[in-house]
Amino acid sequence: MPTYEFRCKSCGSTFDVNRSMAESSDPATCPDGHTDTVKLLSVLGLAGNAAAPAGGGGGGGCCGGGCCG
Ligand SMILES: [Zn+2]
Repeated sequence: MPTYEFRCKSCGSTFDVNRSMAESSDPATCPDGHTDTVKLLSVLGLAGNAAAPAGGGGGGGCCGGGCCG
C-alpha cells in the first residue's frame, strides 16, 4: 500500500498516511486532530520539495499568452 505525505496547515506538521491509491485524494486528518491538510507530492525516495505548490487544480496559463506582459 502506498504511502502519502500530508501537511497540516493548522500546525504545519507533516505526516504519512498509508492508504490505497483509490483513496489517495481523500482528506487526511492531522495526528493532532486538524482537518485542514494538504497532500504533498508523493516523492518517496526523493528529498526536498518541502513547499510543493498545492493549488486547487486547473488554471496557471496566464503568463503563457502574454496577458502578464
Ligand atoms: Zn495539525
